[in-house]
Amino acid sequence: MTHPTPSSAPHPTPAGPSRTTAAPALSARALTKTYGPTLALGGVGLDLFPGEAVAVMGASGSGKSTLLHCLAGVISPDSGSVVLDDPRHGRQDLSGLDAEERAAVRLRSFGFIFQQGLLLPDLTAVENVALPLLLGGTDRSAATARAAASMAALGLAGLEERRIGQLSGGQQQRVAIARAQVADPVVVFADEPTGALDSATSTEVMAALLASTRDRGRTLVVVTHDPGVAGTCDRVLHLSDGLVVREESLR
Ligand code: ADP
Ligand code: MG
Repeated sequence: MTHPTPSSAPHPTPAGPSRTTAAPALSARALTKTYGPTLALGGVGLDLFPGEAVAVMGASGSGKSTLLHCLAGVISPDSGSVVLDDPRHGRQDLSGLDAEERAAVRLRSFGFIFQQGLLLPDLTAVENVALPLLLGGTDRSAATARAAASMAALGLAGLEERRIGQLSGGQQQRVAIARAQVADPVVVFADEPTGALDSATSTEVMAALLASTRDRGRTLVVVTHDPGVAGTCDRVLHLSDGLVVREESLR
């Protein structure tokens, strides 16, 4: 297989993602992961650049979530490297870190969005959004102010005090996006973020996700089964049996 590299990736629009000008935000090389007899990743390499949105597609069991989790430092690959370049903290190989160190990197450099928002129903919307900051040691009033600003940027002003159950599905996913954005992450990872939404809401949530990541020079990695969602990204990586078998450049 060939690994996607900056030199091999076409870049038809100079105004698009900064694939030629910037260093990768995240670089993976030769990632492998097995679960017992199952080869979940068979040697994946990729570069993710600031200001691009990359979709990951593939059949169930092809290794999408495992790839996302290795890139995000949720799990350690069996071999290979994942190098993060965070402008505020420098370059770091996540594969050499222990679980506690990876958790610290996730908190300060990454944002996460899942299919079901995983919002805490007993907290208000603004409390949910403020959580990553509170976990990172920001004091409550500063965290609440930043959380409210993050919500406003996603069109959620006025809904700060709502409980999660008092929000629509699309609003809940935008709260999850606001939470993923609140600490100004370098890379946002989304695993099927629109999987539980109808198509109109899915379009709206994906637009909000792109506006809050790519359009602000951040990197978005989104696992999706929906070609419509993938079609709004800059590149699509197709996985099969733990390998990137095809890469499409869309813009
Ligand atoms: P996808 O997200 O594309 O559906 P996954 O990355 O979840 O695929 O899984 C890839 C392969 O690894 C599958 O065969 C899956 O059954 C296996 N796998 C994933 N996680 C585990 C685990 N924690 N324990 C055992 N097998 C796993
Ligand atoms: Mg999965």
